[in-house]
Amino acid sequence: EHVMALASLPSPISGEGWPEKFPAKEHCSRCGLCETTFVSRVKEACAFLGDGMGRVDDAEMKVHGRQRDTASMAWSENKDRGEDLSTADEARFGVMHEPMRLAKGIGMRDAQWTGVVTSIALSMLEAGKVDAVVCIANSSEESNKSNPQAWSYPQPILAKTPEDVLRGRGVKPALSPSLNVLDEIKNDKSIRKLLFCGVGCAVQAFRAVQDDLGLEEVYVLGTNCVDNSPTPEAAQNFLQEGVQISELERVRGYEFMQDFKVHVKTSDGYITRPYFSLPGTVAAPSIATSCLACFDYTNGLADVVVGYMGAPLDGKMDESYQTLTIRNERGSQMVETAKDANRLYIGDVATGTGNHEQLATSTVAADSIVLEMVGGDVPTSGMPVWMGNILAFVISNYVSPKGVNFARYSIDYHILRNYLHILQEWGEDRAQQAMPQYAADIVSHYLQDETVRKLQSQL
Ligand code: FAD
Ligand code: SF4
Ligand code: SF4
Repeated sequence: EHVMALASLPSPISGEGWPEKFPAKEHCSRCGLCETTFVSRVKEACAFLGDGMGRVDDAEMKVHGRQRDTASMAWSENKDRGEDLSTADEARFGVMHEPMRLAKGIGMRDAQWTGVVTSIALSMLEAGKVDAVVCIANSSEESNKSNPQAWSYPQPILAKTPEDVLRGRGVKPALSPSLNVLDEIKNDKSIRKLLFCGVGCAVQAFRAVQDDLGLEEVYVLGTNCVDNSPTPEAAQNFLQEGVQISELERVRGYEFMQDFKVHVKTSDGYITRPYFSLPGTVAAPSIATSCLACFDYTNGLADVVVGYMGAPLDGKMDESYQTLTIRNERGSQMVETAKDANRLYIGDVATGTGNHEQLATSTVAADSIVLEMVGGDVPTSGMPVWMGNILAFVISNYVSPKGVNFARYSIDYHILRNYLHILQEWGEDRAQQAMPQYAADIVSHYLQDETVRKLQSQL
């Protein structure tokens, strides 16, 4: 009932007219499906129409053979009952074939972190386990124009050579139409075995149509993903207006890190800015509306998932550990292939300490997007950088949970913020429908807290 009549859609619709002409309108994450003939499947595939991300529960059963154990949800209060909260709980992090581990890519230069993703994809192609890899390169069109910001323009490619897979290195910080290569895959008879790299919303849509691609083997390699920018221009604007970087041509990428700072990778090092020094007004234009309705931060339907939020930060992003969540036997095969090729180092089980709930509640109450929702004052300037640095130091060293518990904090805060967004946009019934069970469980737990209840009542 939430879908406009499909008959009125040109099929396939092009990237032109985004987002108004796309079925999910402003909540469209431009996953690419609607730019192919697979637009005919949009009602069942789109993460933002009808039951949307609520479909993840049933899809887990189909993809992994079972649903995540929602009873494993870790709360700090359970510690008093003697429960061990130090490792990742399946309820929040999704189905696990084995406990979440720390990992580093070996010898992979110019990746976002240490190149765990590219190392796995490359190893699978080189070992002949797949014929092609879907990954996100820099837009060649923009590169051809010698645009110094080409790093921020995502272009999905069907990579069939190691050189092409290497073009996927680095996060391009904007919504990317990863599925716009679906027709190309279906029509290319040389592709029998495929590896698809993608973020949660794209993987959800891909899982809905993968059986129609006529493939013998499909592997899905996911990344964690939250708060993506709507466009490359919005990402550039965030760096200029928010982080106050004037020479954008020096930038190679950026990341929001566990030390409460934005780390911007440049041609000659790193520039960091504490979150507290960013003007609150830069948040809304920098985050795509789809990402305010997203409940799949940890990419529940991928076979194996790479991220950083649950790993200890070791100074720089290209030297630090990442986390690796193997969800099923296929994920395990992918990791083994990269280990055999000596491209992947697997470290200890990821662990954490600290209380994640208190910081999640206070972050959501101070969040400028939430303040805007409830009619509060959004600060137009951040605190001076020196003061922001002191606050970031104090919070990350003395207040913030660490490792896996930091990841729990980040997941809970984003789920709460996004619940408030969809509640305001869609009302309680559809909000409940559009959340997977684990997200609904997190929301109901925090609604026992007066601060969160007050925010909910102000909408
Ligand atoms: P690399 O080996 O450098 O490979 C990069 C991979 O990212 C390639 O497969 C490429 O296809 C893919 N990619 C690049 N740009 C895009 C894009 N726009 N959309 C989809 N895929 C893309 N991890 C967290 O723990 N917390 C977060 O908040 C978080 N946010 C993220 C937001 C986005 C938009 C993306 C794409 C990833 C995010 N991640 C997050 C994951 C993290 O940033 C790294 O992608 C991950 O740790 C892999 O690093 P790597 O060095 O192994 O990747
Ligand atoms: Fe189509 Fe994807 Fe946008 Fe949904 S998110 S409307 S499937 S392009
Ligand atoms: Fe898609 Fe969610 Fe990432 Fe946004 S945050 S790009 S909706 S997976």
